[in-house]
Amino acid sequence: MASIAKVVVEISLDREFDYRIPAHLQASIRVGSQVTVPFQSRELRGFVVGLANYSAFADKLKEIAGVVGEKPLIPDEIMKLAYWIADYYCAPIEHAVRTVLPSAVRKRGAKHKKQLVASLVNETGCPACDNLPPKQQAVVETLRQHGPLTVSELKERSGCSESPIKTLEKLGLVSIEESTILRDPHAGMELLRTEPFALMVEQRTALDTICAAMDQEKPGTVLLHGVTGSGKTEVYLQAIQHALDKGQGAIVLVPEISLTPQTVDRFRSRFGDCVAVLHSSLSDGERHDEWHRIRNGEAQIAIGARSALFSPVENLGLIVVDEEHEPTYKQDESPRYNARDVAVMRGRIENCCVVLGSATPALESFNNVRDGRYGLAEMLMRVDDRSMPLMRVVDMRIEAEKEGRASIFSKELVQGIYDRLNINEQVILFLNRRGFSASLQCEKCGYVAECAECSVSMTYHKRAHKLLCHICGAEEKVPDRCPDCGDPDFKYAGMGTERIEEVLGKLCPKARVARMDSDTMRKKDSYRTVLDQFKTGKIDILLGTQMIAKGLDFPNVTLVGVLHADMSLNVPDFRAGERTFQLLTQVAGRAGRGEKAGEVIVQAYTPHHPAIQAARSLDYEGFCSQDLEFRRELNYPPFSHLVLLTFKGENELEVMAAADRFSAQLERILPESVSHSPPVPAPLARAKGLWRYQIMLRCEHTVKMTRPIRHVQQTCRLPKGVTLTVDVDALSLL
Ligand code: ADP
Ligand code: ZN
Repeated sequence: MASIAKVVVEISLDREFDYRIPAHLQASIRVGSQVTVPFQSRELRGFVVGLANYSAFADKLKEIAGVVGEKPLIPDEIMKLAYWIADYYCAPIEHAVRTVLPSAVRKRGAKHKKQLVASLVNETGCPACDNLPPKQQAVVETLRQHGPLTVSELKERSGCSESPIKTLEKLGLVSIEESTILRDPHAGMELLRTEPFALMVEQRTALDTICAAMDQEKPGTVLLHGVTGSGKTEVYLQAIQHALDKGQGAIVLVPEISLTPQTVDRFRSRFGDCVAVLHSSLSDGERHDEWHRIRNGEAQIAIGARSALFSPVENLGLIVVDEEHEPTYKQDESPRYNARDVAVMRGRIENCCVVLGSATPALESFNNVRDGRYGLAEMLMRVDDRSMPLMRVVDMRIEAEKEGRASIFSKELVQGIYDRLNINEQVILFLNRRGFSASLQCEKCGYVAECAECSVSMTYHKRAHKLLCHICGAEEKVPDRCPDCGDPDFKYAGMGTERIEEVLGKLCPKARVARMDSDTMRKKDSYRTVLDQFKTGKIDILLGTQMIAKGLDFPNVTLVGVLHADMSLNVPDFRAGERTFQLLTQVAGRAGRGEKAGEVIVQAYTPHHPAIQAARSLDYEGFCSQDLEFRRELNYPPFSHLVLLTFKGENELEVMAAADRFSAQLERILPESVSHSPPVPAPLARAKGLWRYQIMLRCEHTVKMTRPIRHVQQTCRLPKGVTLTVDVDALSLL
């Protein structure tokens, strides 16, 4: 029996404190229990994230005061999952436990009351209201528009502090009451119910495969490989219906980036209120409410990004991981888990079917099908036999030769845009870099503006007139002349979305262009607003980064242009080809989704690269077979698991020495089947002021690497200024 509990308290969620477990509570405390603990001079609520027999502070420990509630907040199955995550991803159990329970839920405890403010004034107003001071007026007006609101919402929306609200209460114009009413973040947005579509042949077969898997005792995992526009979502919807019919619940994961209102609406308009939505833009209160709607069974379907995987859906019948190849499923802080892989594990623990869907499944998943570990459902045709868009690749080297200089738009693309605009069709342009130019260079001496903290060049942002570091966000003024040689002629090398926008303005001044990247999408609603405008034809050309590559479904888009398709190939990563193939296929998939056929024009400097050619000829299998051969030869995933150790610190020599020492100790105990590199500077050698050194390990079995790593972590202490991150199944090698 453990005698020490590690507790996170609600006021400080980022670290845990040790407490002694008194004898009478021994039986009722476990990981996941909510407790009350003495903290300084108060009593606070907390949450047990770990148990131990030993504490470094043993002589000054306080005792846990009590246990709150009978049932721990984390169901057993999810607790099991947390332990698996900690073990597999080499992370402390505390981190894993924190990951599986949203902080909004931890902070507020099980019972959650809000102060709800309601107007006591009727619609037509009252004489007293007309002469209120502006602040109070604003409060009354806000309540009139929105109906009852919580105090914090009211403050946010009216822009007032609490005091005018209190004054109004005294005047008898508003009431403030404690309420446990759960607020629906979608209140006021009624959706029309949709009926299930009559399925296309391939969809029917895919659904049958999935339902058959769901009905088995050990359901397993099915890969749904469906080209863009093949109607995967409809298959998910009907598979979920199958789960509901059996009295089961479901979880749907989508990458944050495609958690668009468009996507969410498709689920809500089929299933209404039994859908709980978890996204990053929810307030803590909303998140808390949504979580409890799931926990108490009001909502049987949870949809959300990565962390929605841990929703406490009871009697889980199906987990869908849409766009399963997306790297955003990997969390980039401890625990560095991949939600797709953890989904498969949750499926195994809870005996529930897992569907991984994508137009371009990751090679790992493709290989799991080949090896018979996953089932397969394929949909290679678009709904209603709409044709796949025709892709043309323009060789920008030839274009440059013809023009005498590197151009941004090829003749073909410009003509394509004109043609579409003339017949009132819409265009999407994709470039995966924001800002104006990739760097600022001096032609005379070769000086490049670099970030002081990171080993990358600064990006020039014209509208803000600043140099920005895309790694650490540092901002700098644009120098008037070269800081090195004093020459005033700077060259803007490379292009970003901001520059394209400017050039478009000259090419087609009448076209209505909207730019969508993280610079223009700062406000909460701007995403929805722009997409609505595009949908209703108020915008002709949508220009953007990653953000517009996926999930968008606009029937009137008949041309997609990709500028600089090989940008993603010039990355030192064995997955560069796979990423490029996926990106091109996804972007191209935005074209021709309606009655009209679509066309894609891809501009590239290496047009013959296999990834680009495979995307052009829609040859997923061909691409996979070829890339898998290369990976097998070099023993890269999926033929091995890969663990990346990154040492970071301010002092380069210290970092290097620490990495060397760690490596030497590790080498002594690593089994022979593990291949490993010596410590080398990371491709991104310095970031946010920290030097980075890496060791890469590869082996067929993860534990053969993680056990020894854990062992060395415990025995070889790193110097104070150096930290180590362990990334199991790393997706980013930077
Ligand atoms: P994917 O996710 O595979 O790219 P979607 O699920 O977005 O494809 O489907 C593409 C379009 O086809 C959507 O507008 C969807 O409403 C429509 N659709 C899907 N299945 C059917 C069907 N069986 N009959 C008619 N339309 C369908
Ligand atoms: Zn920087």
